[in-house]
Amino acid sequence: MKKDDCIFCKIASGEIPSTTIYEDDYNKVFFDINPASKGHCLIVPKEHYDNIYDLDEEAAGRLFGLATKVANGLKKELDLEGLNILQNNGEIAGQTVYHIHLHLIPRYAGDTVNIGLKPGEADVEELKTLADKITLE
Ligand code: AMP
Ligand code: ZN
Repeated sequence: MKKDDCIFCKIASGEIPSTTIYEDDYNKVFFDINPASKGHCLIVPKEHYDNIYDLDEEAAGRLFGLATKVANGLKKELDLEGLNILQNNGEIAGQTVYHIHLHLIPRYAGDTVNIGLKPGEADVEELKTLADKITLE
């Protein structure tokens, strides 16, 4: 289903222009308008899903499967040294567009991309309790 007030639904349908790298029946790949690095692009399903929680497995398979192809396409053309894949869910996680998307962010020596994780301390007993509690449907 399309959502009327959603910018990525409009980009997916072509109503709003984008610099498109690839598209098929299910996904569109285009350059981010405010790139964190050269080649920073987004993979966006044409169907509207707010985030990871309402994406179904088939759509997820197509989305993440396409990421492997786009990553290789970027690697072939750009002089990248690494690549981050980022997918934000919720405001606190940095999501600003509430239509699921993957960021593919090429990395170069000396770039200004900042996606660092600060390592924390694990309490193994706590982790075991939590592992037993988490259920997948
Ligand atoms: P997020 O913060 O994970 O929701 O990412 C949203 C991304 O969409 C940001 O990196 C924006 O720069 C990008 N973006 C927003 N509007 C457009 C647009 N019209 N064309 C391309 N990228 C966009
Ligand atoms: Zn949408």
